Amino acid sequence: MSRFSFLESLGCVACGAQHQPAYLLECPVCGGLLDPQYDLKSLSKCGVRDERFKGLWRYHRVLPVWSQEHLITLGEGDTPLLWARQLGTRLGAPRLFIKYEGTLPTGTVKDRTSATAVSSALQFGFRAISVVSTGNAGVSIATYARRAGLASAIFCYKRGDPLKMAHMSLLATRVFTYEGEYDHVIEHFDRIMDKKEIFDGGARRNPFKHEGKKTIAYEIVEQLGHGPEVFITQVSGCEIFTACFRGFREMMEMGLIGQIPRMVACQSEAANPVVKAFQSGSSIQPMTTGSTVAKGLATGRPGKKGEWVLGILRGCKGLALDVSDAEIIKAQQLLVETEGIWSGPTGASALAGLIKGIREGLLDPQAEMVCMVTETGLTSSYPKPVVHPIEISPEALAQALRSVK
Ligand SMILES: *Cc1c(COP(=O)(O)O)cnc(C)c1O
Ligand SMILES: [Zn+2]
Repeated sequence: MSRFSFLESLGCVACGAQHQPAYLLECPVCGGLLDPQYDLKSLSKCGVRDERFKGLWRYHRVLPVWSQEHLITLGEGDTPLLWARQLGTRLGAPRLFIKYEGTLPTGTVKDRTSATAVSSALQFGFRAISVVSTGNAGVSIATYARRAGLASAIFCYKRGDPLKMAHMSLLATRVFTYEGEYDHVIEHFDRIMDKKEIFDGGARRNPFKHEGKKTIAYEIVEQLGHGPEVFITQVSGCEIFTACFRGFREMMEMGLIGQIPRMVACQSEAANPVVKAFQSGSSIQPMTTGSTVAKGLATGRPGKKGEWVLGILRGCKGLALDVSDAEIIKAQQLLVETEGIWSGPTGASALAGLIKGIREGLLDPQAEMVCMVTETGLTSSYPKPVVHPIEISPEALAQALRSVK
């Protein structure tokens, strides 16, 4: 294997078995999740970044695509890490940073995993890719599939966000809608993906897809110049959380950071299986999701990845918080008012968790914190515009301007 990627093996999270890199969705021994292992020793000598590439692909050495020929990009990665001065002042948190993913090609964090997914699909000779999505993943996979010349089949909840569905149907080969719960569709989907006739673009198992979100952690450390004390993200399919944890862990093993940040997981009250298990000290109990404004968080059965998140939380003194729709909408508005960032509700839900954590004394506001804002607001349903009609006259214009001073 060439050294474009320093991937060495796929290690099983459950039984520890190491497998040769190949298109595996789970451990052939025990069915556990696979955790890609890289040659960190060589990497700590030659460095992780390759400055000949831009964005996410500067980190190709710690991604599982082993030849440049399969690399597909739409310019993803390099999203801003913003010091949130005004928001931080409001919250009494002077060292608060926002990692804003709304600038990615389709406006959401999903583009990071779509890039590694379609590139891996080409690497393994697939012609088509599929995903079950509440919106963002479907848009993103369909977009990247076009770019790669792959067919895409997207399964989407019938009452998804209209803008996201329009976007998806422009890009996908086919969009199939269903009525009912994501969690029920996904069980059948997984069994069909086991046949490996179509590349699995889902969040549940595929380590080659998963890996793209790890670059969030690498970018944060590069942008800050060191590791943050606290990392806060929303959790649904559990990719961001587990991928970023793995990124921080790799950097710690390579001596690039001193320790793994305190990891904080936020969920909606309507879909909070990880939070419930964390608080009660039990394992994850699958639940039926209620309705939530954060449609991207509606996963009641996160499967083995949920257990992985729990293990990480328990192992590193992490924290899990759930938030109500009202808290999410408030966080969304606060982002607009204080920083000029308009995120969708799903994207603002980690901030809602951060605010709750500070309020309840579970998070130290003085700590250096990085909070994920994972999408733009441009593709979510939006409120009616609030406008003030005026006459066309110098007096009316002058009066209008005086009123905003
Ligand atoms: C999918 C999604 C998430 C959740 O990420 P997971 O990796 O599935 O936990 C968060 N925010 C947005 C905007 C998403 O689309
Ligand atoms: Zn195993």
